[in-house]
Amino acid sequence: MSIIETIKERCKRCYTCVRECPAKAIRIVDGQASVIAERCIGCGNCYLVCTQDAKRVASSAGRVRALLAGEAPVAAIVAPSFPAEFVEYDAGRLVAGLRRLGFKQVHEVAFGADLVSRAYRDLTARASGTKCFIGTSCPAAYLFVEKYHPELVDNLAPIVSPMVATARVVKKHWPGTKVVFVGPCIAKKLEAMDPDIAGEVDEVLMFSELREMFAEEGIEPEKLEPSEFDEPRGFLGSIFPVPRGSLRSARLDDDPITARIAEVNGRYRFAGALEELSKGMIKADFLEVLCCEGCTMGPGMTSEGRSFLRRLRVSEYAQERIHEMDMRRWQVTLDRYGDIDLTRSFRREDRRMKIPTEEEIRAILKRLGKEKREDELNCGACGYHTCREHAIAIYHGIAESEMCLPYMIEELKHALEQLEESHRTLQEVQEQLVHSEKLASMGQLAAGIAHEVNNPLGTVLLYSNLLLDDVKDNEELREEVEMVVKEAQRCKRIISNLLDFARQKKVIAERTDIERLIDETLAGIPKPKGVEVVREYGGVGKIEEDQSQIKQVFTNLIKNAYEAMEETGGKLVIRTFELDEDRVRLEFADTGPGIEPSIKGKIFNPFFTTKPLGKGTGLGLAVSYGIVKMHRGDIGVESEPGKGAVFHVVLRRRLTDTTAPIGGQLWQK
Ligand code: ADP
Repeated sequence: MSIIETIKERCKRCYTCVRECPAKAIRIVDGQASVIAERCIGCGNCYLVCTQDAKRVASSAGRVRALLAGEAPVAAIVAPSFPAEFVEYDAGRLVAGLRRLGFKQVHEVAFGADLVSRAYRDLTARASGTKCFIGTSCPAAYLFVEKYHPELVDNLAPIVSPMVATARVVKKHWPGTKVVFVGPCIAKKLEAMDPDIAGEVDEVLMFSELREMFAEEGIEPEKLEPSEFDEPRGFLGSIFPVPRGSLRSARLDDDPITARIAEVNGRYRFAGALEELSKGMIKADFLEVLCCEGCTMGPGMTSEGRSFLRRLRVSEYAQERIHEMDMRRWQVTLDRYGDIDLTRSFRREDRRMKIPTEEEIRAILKRLGKEKREDELNCGACGYHTCREHAIAIYHGIAESEMCLPYMIEELKHALEQLEESHRTLQEVQEQLVHSEKLASMGQLAAGIAHEVNNPLGTVLLYSNLLLDDVKDNEELREEVEMVVKEAQRCKRIISNLLDFARQKKVIAERTDIERLIDETLAGIPKPKGVEVVREYGGVGKIEEDQSQIKQVFTNLIKNAYEAMEETGGKLVIRTFELDEDRVRLEFADTGPGIEPSIKGKIFNPFFTTKPLGKGTGLGLAVSYGIVKMHRGDIGVESEPGKGAVFHVVLRRRLTDTTAPIGGQLWQK
């Protein structure tokens, strides 16, 4: 369980916590950030930077209340950063408030800091020039070393923090006392659970939690009589929480000219310094490392005021302490309480992420649309410094592709295109539906008329032929009767076309060589003089279709093209090619007069014709349209007046798994 939880409803995919986490201990799942306990160093950056207040620190207040209600006496040990937090009342009133809460003793962690400072000084003097010790008062810093620079664990000063030092003093001199640390830090909660010092500090309360407890108990420290901290009082250790404070308190000479003693603080700098130390670039005896810009900037602080103001308050309090403490009294305090063991050990808890192979990284980057190096923008929107770091985090399951802004923009664009495409398809289907319905009702009408007219027409033809026999010697009459026969035959053809159009046939699919079928069709239609036919076949092979129906389509298209070029001559180019795996496209491009835009939308309508009476019925394209749609194909025309017309037909290779088109059932009763 992590000590920092996420309030799901508030987490809004901003990835700021990912960006600000020096340990990359944030896992994103479905856009929700959660802290990975085993990677977390407790620095609290994720908690501090979350503008949505989506991070919550698991509260210790309940357990502290339970301790206070128990048999054993409980001591509060207060971090030396308290003057920066409790600005509305002085130290005496804070102590009084703590006593009112039920703490039997209230101690200054500044005394532990004094002891730790002395130990740092001794250690540095002994080891000078052999190795660079890393100060271990900041738990987030030493946890970072244990988890992400295990090679530096031997450089960690093997000395407890001021918190643990103070707890040891209390537990040695007041055996059986429970100890609650009160401070500005989340990481101290992790330190208190550290197996190497487990049980030494019973609970950790942040200043913010203490304020909540005061409020819940109705305690207003400013209204209380001031009370003194219990002995042993702190001295120079009071300056510990500000950057370089531990050095000053340990009287370590951090002269920038010799640079044997160094200091680094802040979430952006400390990891870099440890990296440099690991690479042997820092030649010093002691390095003070603070994850925050001093403990006064810790995440458990609630007070207003920028870093400088907070430091100033700690400095003022330290001045008071120095003023109050004379050396004789200080020596007595040290002699009495200073003889405790300050050593501790650290462990290697390597949490560094394994770097996947180059192929694995590239595969993830490719999924993010980053095929080439130039595609890696390293924009940082995902919270990782580089696209590669993001890819590695995805590999380890702690990040998602959706965190990449350029990727998401591309995905959105893609989705938009798909939406537009489906919108277009919908529109087309709607048009087809309207057309199919129109054709269906016209088909029914045509079928009705054709049937009604067909029989009397048959009689007219029969009797007019008989009559023709009777009048064959009478030239005048014969010509007139011949006219009747001719016109009746024309009517018969129209009726036959009408019946074709209205014929409610099913598609009988068989595998057919489409190019051979075109050749057969061409052979059956007399070519007008001056017209040339060019075949540009792509060798599309066999497709499933109803041979006689598709042949009728070709006949109509070829006849129309021939008729368009009848007077002027010209060229008909017939192309076939594969559109994709499933579809073939056929084009019939003629060099005739083309089609006026004003009639382009009408030419597939039944009975629409521009041809003179007796020449066209206006059914050819309507019938063709119906047939192609029954084949779940597509038919259309591109044409500019004066530049010829290109009719195209798209057909599917397989029809077996297809059903009739929308509206097609109207044709298939
Ligand atoms: P019809 O040929 O009996 O007129 P269609 O349905 O086959 O009936 O054609 C409808 C109309 O489409 C034609 O009258 C003509 O105006 C136009 N059309 C068809 N094919 C062509 C073409 N290749 N070039 C120019 N116009 C064409």
